[in-house]
Amino acid sequence: MSIADNLNKIKATLPEAVTLVAVSKTKPNTDIVAAYNAGQRIFGENKIQEMTQKWEELPKDIEWHMIGHVQTNKVKYMAEYVTLIHGVDSLKLLKEINKQARKYDRIIKCLLQIHIAKEETKFGFDKTELLEIIENELFKDFENIKVVGLMGMATFTQNKEQIHKEFKSLKLLFDLAKSKDSHFDTLSMGMSGDYQMAIEEGSTMVRIGSSIFGNR
Ligand SMILES: *Cc1c(COP(=O)(O)O)cnc(C)c1O
Repeated sequence: MSIADNLNKIKATLPEAVTLVAVSKTKPNTDIVAAYNAGQRIFGENKIQEMTQKWEELPKDIEWHMIGHVQTNKVKYMAEYVTLIHGVDSLKLLKEINKQARKYDRIIKCLLQIHIAKEETKFGFDKTELLEIIENELFKDFENIKVVGLMGMATFTQNKEQIHKEFKSLKLLFDLAKSKDSHFDTLSMGMSGDYQMAIEEGSTMVRIGSSIFGNR
């Protein structure tokens, strides 16, 4: 199957309210153009340098999403163009994104990453930290960022019950955060292996790579 076929097949199964981020990390520009020509405009990358190079070379109506872990000192390289940063995991990082966005007179949208998986290696806030951050006075003063929701990754496991449980817990946190902050409208959860489960649990944005572009 071609990239366009894969993309169309996946899009046909997504509810209208769910946004598809095509995860193109490690893939060449020709693959991204194939998806672009099939109508896809939102692409996700996990390395700032790679994403910036692709942004320079590819059509300017592409929306670039940073889905990987972000180091504070690298925010400046993507501040000119990045649309949504999925993996924000500290107040310090939010502060830096705000500062760099201001230089370009832009508003960069952000998601707060929540740790829902069993694996220690996955980044993110827990519930207490999330509530602390959205109730922090500083949080309200950032004029060049807009925190629009949450992002999370489930444990890498065959145990579907476990995955459902983790997505459910993230949806609950999302609803709680939304009740405190009216800007919240995006819940980024679900990848190639688990996006159907994520949608059943209330995802509004799925990040799909290998099912579109093939294995990395
Ligand atoms: C790579 C990646 C994806 C896409 O994974 P696939 O299994 O290829 O769909 C989604 N989210 C994040 C954070 C990733 O790093």
